[in-house]
Amino acid sequence: MIKLAKPYIPERAYDLVKKVLESGNLIQGQYVTEFEQLVQTYLSVPYAKMVTSGTAALHLAMLALDIQQGDEVIVPAFTYPATANAVELVGAKPVMVDINFTDFCIDTSKIEAKITSKTRAIMPVHEFGQAAKMDDIIAIARKHKLKIVEDAACALGTDYEGEMAGTFGDFGCFSLHPRKAITTGEGGIVVTHDKKLARKIDLLRNHGAEKRDGKLDFCLPGLNYRMTDFQAAMGIPQLEEMEQIIDIRQQQAQEYNALLEAIDWVQTPMIFPERKHVYQTYHVLIRNRNRDELIQLLREKGVETNLGAQALHCLTFFAEKYGYQPGDFPNARDAYNQGLALPLGSHLNNGDIEKVVDLIKMIH
Ligand SMILES: *Cc1c(COP(=O)(O)O)cnc(C)c1O
Repeated sequence: MIKLAKPYIPERAYDLVKKVLESGNLIQGQYVTEFEQLVQTYLSVPYAKMVTSGTAALHLAMLALDIQQGDEVIVPAFTYPATANAVELVGAKPVMVDINFTDFCIDTSKIEAKITSKTRAIMPVHEFGQAAKMDDIIAIARKHKLKIVEDAACALGTDYEGEMAGTFGDFGCFSLHPRKAITTGEGGIVVTHDKKLARKIDLLRNHGAEKRDGKLDFCLPGLNYRMTDFQAAMGIPQLEEMEQIIDIRQQQAQEYNALLEAIDWVQTPMIFPERKHVYQTYHVLIRNRNRDELIQLLREKGVETNLGAQALHCLTFFAEKYGYQPGDFPNARDAYNQGLALPLGSHLNNGDIEKVVDLIKMIH
């Protein structure tokens, strides 16, 4: 089976994890701190906080900004549901905006029409490892005095006009799930430039606990979203190899692009000069063919693929709660029906990409 994705765990990670296990200090400790410092340097951002997942990161961002019942948050209609779930879970309303068919990110020309007196924040998603149009989003947020929370879950290492994705907004939220470029099993990161917001994340991820005059006190109703130290120990060596990890993904994407050119019903990813694409997912559109049949046929031939992301308004919860019809966000709907994620990552052997493309070619 050519797998869609497989975590790359450097040899050194095993040694570090063993060290942590032997030390007996298992939760948020020196390795979490070290991992946070490495992320801060990597992203050039003053505060990075490790948490239990990308979803936890988004939830904490909502809580720290006091987004609550009666508030609205702008989200793209095409993403992983966690983006909008985080908004729902604090009692606020995710207000959907359609995506572009070029970058699969929020169509920034459609945001302002959705802004009301209740809008508190815009939550762009850097879909598949390519940044949303952040200059537009920043301009709109400034004009309407809105917060920005970047769902950068699949965009560690991505940049926009030379600045790292996740560092533009009030918060940037990353995931370290095994489907992402680097992983700690489950895991997430919240980054911010704001000292007060960083402190709030510190409190909210750890029961609201804080040391005051050397005495432990609790000053907020917090959660337990702490990362374990052995997860951080697993993540550190991967982050140190981030450059090579991205290089491999970009080279593989180029190989796909060149080979897929021969198939006129496959649309390959679009590249923009001001945006670095790190290909968390190598995602193509299947035009005029049945995508689900293709997934099935490829599986039978030993190739694991998957759909790209979900059209939120087509999912039961959002469709029933807000009465959406599939045609309300046609680009999101079409990407949901036609998108295909192909195998990518350092687990692929020489010839695997050619084999995948040859199999796709055989299907008429
Ligand atoms: C992966 C992902 C998430 C969820 O991250 P978890 O770590 O699995 O909770 C959220 N949003 C997007 C866009 C993602 O790709």
